[in-house]
Amino acid sequence: MVAMLKEMGIEDMRVLDAMNVIPRHAFLDDAFFEYAYENKAFQIGEGQTISQPYTVAFQTQLLQLKKNDKVLEIGTGSGYQTAVLCSLGARVFSIERQRLLYEKAKRFLPMININPKLFYGDGYLGLSVFAPFDKIIVTAGAPIIPEALKNQLKIGGIMVIPVGENDGQKMISVIKLNENEFEINEYGDFHFVPMLSAKR
Ligand code: SAH
Repeated sequence: MVAMLKEMGIEDMRVLDAMNVIPRHAFLDDAFFEYAYENKAFQIGEGQTISQPYTVAFQTQLLQLKKNDKVLEIGTGSGYQTAVLCSLGARVFSIERQRLLYEKAKRFLPMININPKLFYGDGYLGLSVFAPFDKIIVTAGAPIIPEALKNQLKIGGIMVIPVGENDGQKMISVIKLNENEFEINEYGDFHFVPMLSAKR
């Protein structure tokens, strides 16, 4: 899988090493075992998917993680991206809005020695109690860049977020220059399940 990611243009060796270590098959339903290391997305229940390895590598690379970075992740899903962030030394706070997926990740991740702080809730709101964050990663397609998340980013911090409607998103990196100014860069087309607002 790592050789494939390299060929596709992922250069950050730390990201590749982390993805080499985390057993992606363990995050999938038995039925998908033999395809676990192909560049495919799979159903993880509740209408959600685990992102393709290329997407995980691409987003992680854009985050430019440093050890001990405090990272907010929106969309825990299977917990695979969470595990990659943790194994790079980040302190991860991850929010999931599907209760069953939240519960599953909460049970599973400690079993493979991955210990993020997991929350059941609405990622649009972020986690103001724990803000500010060095980095924020959103793993569902967002129609806009949520204001709360911009506010919860440190000055100099980076947010990586796929922005667009259901038919596809542009990968965006947002660098917070000061309280009111943000540098925005765009990195091509991706396809995510939509980021949904809180269940009522
Ligand atoms: N990183 C995950 C990706 C899962 S897909 C993985 O690789 O497995 C996106 C996830 O975002 C889904 O689990 C979905 O339930 C979750 N999600 C969607 N809208 C959300 C919101 N508003 N807040 C938190 N999580 C959300």
